[in-house]
Amino acid sequence: MIRLRAMLAALLAIGLSGCIVAAPPPPLPALLASAEATPKPPVTILVSIDGFRADYMARGVTPRLAALAAAGVTAPMAPSFPSKTFPNHWTLVTGEVPDRHGIVANKMEDPARPGETFTMASDDPFWWNAASPIWVDAEKAGIRTATMFWPGANVAWGGTRAADWPHAITGGTRPEDWQQFNQVVSGEQRVNAVLDWLRRPAAIRPKFVTLYFDTVDTAGHLYGPDDARTNAAIADVDARIGMLVDGLKALRQPANLVIVADHGMAATSSDRVVALDKLADPKLYRVVESGPYASFEPTEGNDAALAKALLRPHDHMQCWPKAEIPARFHYGANRRVPPWLCLAETGWLIQPTAPTAPFTGGNHGYDNAAPEMAALFLAHGPAFARGRTLPGFANVDVEPLLRDLLGMPLDPEVDGTDAPFKPILIPVEER
Ligand code: AMP
Ligand code: ZN
Ligand code: ZN
Repeated sequence: MIRLRAMLAALLAIGLSGCIVAAPPPPLPALLASAEATPKPPVTILVSIDGFRADYMARGVTPRLAALAAAGVTAPMAPSFPSKTFPNHWTLVTGEVPDRHGIVANKMEDPARPGETFTMASDDPFWWNAASPIWVDAEKAGIRTATMFWPGANVAWGGTRAADWPHAITGGTRPEDWQQFNQVVSGEQRVNAVLDWLRRPAAIRPKFVTLYFDTVDTAGHLYGPDDARTNAAIADVDARIGMLVDGLKALRQPANLVIVADHGMAATSSDRVVALDKLADPKLYRVVESGPYASFEPTEGNDAALAKALLRPHDHMQCWPKAEIPARFHYGANRRVPPWLCLAETGWLIQPTAPTAPFTGGNHGYDNAAPEMAALFLAHGPAFARGRTLPGFANVDVEPLLRDLLGMPLDPEVDGTDAPFKPILIPVEER
């Protein structure tokens, strides 16, 4: 017993002397409190709700977006032509119109790659290399980025595909963290992935993040913009935005949120179809794309005959050779734009033949100035004034805004400017 007491005393003495040389770490609550006392710098989160028409906000089904708008900035934003998903998502992150950045359509061909077709699954940098997306410029400037889906975010930008081994890409830059697009990953999983990135230690936490939702566009196509099921999809994405906002709050992570859409949605119907085969002999042309607009190439030796057929006045459709597309569309100089473009009146569809069964639904790709094509823009966070509405602006201006938020210099080569945001950006020292 006496020996045990002596041993305990000796152990205690060793312990105490240890305390004198190295102080014990502070208790966990004190550590947490000090971590909380150091405010985290704001992260910039670019959210796309595909096909969220600007006026969907007025339907009373988006309480979380409405709360952000009341404490932030909103505007109707004009997409670029054509008002399709891939061209506009690439414009939003490059600041260039599709004719310049090279993603001129969701489906396209290039004379430099005969026999190949670009589709929404194409990740060969060849198609994307004409303009660098903001995450590439940010990564090069030492700003860590992460993309929870975005068209082009899976591309090794600037890289080259090996001719003999099509899956091998040499070089190129991707976001530090990115995910291969998969439509079945739920909105909840997407938001949780973003929150998990932001839960990381500062050294590996992204400063710029993208997040993408596709369900509002899908419902808009299937049911049309005015259907209750489209409103349900809108309400569901609103709840996911709520999850994101609540999650950021729980993490005490300030964020500048820029929530956008790529285009709007117009109601379509089998009663509003322009059947091409009734206007021009199908032997005269090969259709590249059809729908809200159609693009064509004349078949061998039929240039003049096709021109004659297309240039006649048509109900609900207007056609131009690519060199004569009106200047306001900023479209037609790129070699990937086919020789002929016909644009349908908003709500009409150009199809190779007349419909064989009745249908209703929704579509986009129309005149980018049509009110039905106007897209959501909503910004909220320490960089933004509260409760302001801006007059409309073009979506080429989003990339310069993102550069301001990330503290990156503007790129004078792009088509957009940050001028529309000057009245609502809070000076850095006051944020
Ligand atoms: P759109 O035909 O213009 O309406 O394109 C919308 C569709 O694009 C969505 O329903 C998605 O399925 C698809 N999509 C969106 N992002 C990607 C991506 N990163 N890769 C492949 N497909 C995508
Ligand atoms: Zn879209
Ligand atoms: Zn769509």
